[in-house]
Amino acid sequence: MAGDGERVAIVGAGLAGCLLAVLLGRRGVPVTVYERRPDPRVAGAERGRSINLAISARGLAALEQVGLRDQALKQALPMHGRMVHPLPGAQNFQPYSADGERAINSVGRAELNRSLLDAAEATPGVTLRFSQRVTGVDVDAGELLFEDADAEPADVVLAGDGAYSAVRRSLGFDHDADFLEHGYKELTVPPRNGEFALDPDALHIWPRGTSMMIALPNLDRSFTCTLFWPKGDFDALGTPDKVTAYFEEHYPDVAGLMPDLTDDYAHNPIGSLVTVRAWPWTRYGDGATVALLGDAAHAIVPFFGQGANCAFEDCIEIDRCLTETGGDWRRALSLYQERRKANTDAIAELSLDNFIEMRDRVSSPVYRAKQAATHALERRLAGRYVSRYELVSFSTLPYADIPARIRRQNLVLGAAVAGGAAVLGLAIRAARRR
Ligand SMILES: Cc1cc2nc3c(=O)[nH]c(=O)nc-3n(C[C@H](O)[C@H](O)[C@H](O)COP(=O)(O)OP(=O)(O)OC[C@H]3O[C@@H](n4cnc5c(N)ncnc54)[C@H](O)[C@@H]3O)c2cc1C
Repeated sequence: MAGDGERVAIVGAGLAGCLLAVLLGRRGVPVTVYERRPDPRVAGAERGRSINLAISARGLAALEQVGLRDQALKQALPMHGRMVHPLPGAQNFQPYSADGERAINSVGRAELNRSLLDAAEATPGVTLRFSQRVTGVDVDAGELLFEDADAEPADVVLAGDGAYSAVRRSLGFDHDADFLEHGYKELTVPPRNGEFALDPDALHIWPRGTSMMIALPNLDRSFTCTLFWPKGDFDALGTPDKVTAYFEEHYPDVAGLMPDLTDDYAHNPIGSLVTVRAWPWTRYGDGATVALLGDAAHAIVPFFGQGANCAFEDCIEIDRCLTETGGDWRRALSLYQERRKANTDAIAELSLDNFIEMRDRVSSPVYRAKQAATHALERRLAGRYVSRYELVSFSTLPYADIPARIRRQNLVLGAAVAGGAAVLGLAIRAARRR
């Protein structure tokens, strides 16, 4: 299935779909992107989608390849650490990096999507088609199927249609979808007297044991807060008065900063949090080659802020594999899935683990002491001891290599500590003998 003149379709003009369209257009591969929504640059963003995202090293590296890194950073607010709001207790700031210099970036999803759509539209060979809901692919006929329109020919279909991918479903791709018992709901802290009502240089966390709330700053000086609660708990607060009372008791330092709390709470939807593990990600029919990417292949929970970063890495890998295989789609897509799967499995696990860290551990004094010790080690052993957070957020080390790297570091450290203790023991014994 190599060669010129292939009709390449991308399903979904989300974050991954748009980036991939730009990359393919730049290679001289004509591509049509089919998006079920109307053009969000005209129609506005959907309510209930996460409003802002943390973009870090991996996402920035990918955006750099299409010249969008600086533009994304201009539309971003850096967050240099977590501001933890325990109950009871005073808020405390925990820097993300040992030197306190590194930051993850709060970016508006809608703005990022708009920039990517503009870039895709401006790339020769890319055609964007909105309000086109794809229902599936006929891989033998080589056709893309639509809800309200005639089938269209497609030799290569790249499905970036999100966690609930219609392409994945229609072709019966083998996959698990693990839903957390927690859902999410977004609330707003508007500006106060024209200024940010909370410190804008931090990702705020209100850890509450089995649940939590976080807040990320927006350019308009508001914050978008996201509650991560067991789904049943949302309905337990049946009336606006109960909602207000609950927030005053459990989130006392922010309840007064949310004038629209009860309205947001009543009207903003409860989103689901799912980990999707699909395999394989490719299907080869007589008429069409299909591959999944981004959330369609590997949706993850958002607790490491990596879903979009990881989806962008998929696009870069597809582009790289096309280069390495001389544009042979079958070989390129096989190579892509082989290289990415272990990485996406790894970040899925790291993301699930990080939920427990964020909602529970970050407020403990022991955790804070450990963090301080980790940062001290990182400063002392620069480059040789690097925290898990740094490796995920501030490096492009393949996700799959991170657990082993951490284990190795800990072994060396353990040996050094044990060695140090042994030396100390000998010294004490020698001193006693003297
Ligand atoms: C609450 C929350 C917070 C998050 N925070 C972060 C974060 O801080 N950092 C981070 O990196 N990631 C974060 N993520 C994850 C991130 O949003 C996703 O990983 C990312 O959007 C995946 O990109 P995608 O292009 O694969 O899918 P999407 O962005 O979901 O795009 C899919 C596109 O396909 C379209 N589509 C769907 N079905 C069809 C169809 N049948 N036909 C045609 N088009 C279709 C959709 O309309 C959409 O435009 C978060 C997710 C959630 C839920």
